[in-house]
Amino acid sequence: MSKSDPRRVLLVEDEKAIRDAVAAYLERDGFWVTPAADGAAALNAFHNDPPFDLIILDLMLPKIPGEVVCKEIRNVSDIPIIMLTAKGEIDNRIAGLELGADDYLVKPFSPRELIARVRALLRRVHSTDDPQRDKLVYDGLELDISAHRALLDEKDLDLTASEFKLLTTLARYPGRVYTRMELVEKVLGYDFDGYERTVDSHVKNLRAKLNDDPRDPRFIHTVHGVGYRFEPRQIESAPKKTKK
Ligand code: CA
Repeated sequence: MSKSDPRRVLLVEDEKAIRDAVAAYLERDGFWVTPAADGAAALNAFHNDPPFDLIILDLMLPKIPGEVVCKEIRNVSDIPIIMLTAKGEIDNRIAGLELGADDYLVKPFSPRELIARVRALLRRVHSTDDPQRDKLVYDGLELDISAHRALLDEKDLDLTASEFKLLTTLARYPGRVYTRMELVEKVLGYDFDGYERTVDSHVKNLRAKLNDDPRDPRFIHTVHGVGYRFEPRQIESAPKKTKK
């Protein structure tokens, strides 16, 4: 991230140790951070100190809970929001997405993982990509929607219509978490609880064809208790040679 184009992050977290650690990581990465220690301070900063590029929002907050803050902000803004939740709040995690959060992280998380999510979300939001764009290209994976063609490491993949739809749905928005229910509706086109398992078996087949190990995914990540997300593995690039 270039220093000339800092992104402003509103960081809402009541635990000082987490807030300080996350702020330090973000600042090191070139972000400008406005910290807020409770829900009221968060809304105050959001309304009186705009514009922000992204909000990191803890769910359990003093004064005004995170879900209320999220709802209030969503009423007036489509700013990207990442929710932070404690372990065991799976229902709340789903609710977080239903409230309009774009992504979430479960505590304890590594600041590095959070930064990766922040970057992915900003890329997704700020890419001027037409959602109808016809080609999705990631490291090692190329999807040509109208030609119904998928290439993995430059080799043709033989995918069924459902597998292709599933893969392109996930890959269109890297980092976004899809619930099984959403995938049933988007990929299979119907709406019935019993079919959520069908998504799991499609994902299983797709992973086999992509040679993707769920324990160390190159593309498709399982979000436990929720669904799936596409996040291509970052290949560490070789250090750039300096010109002499
Ligand atoms: Ca908290």
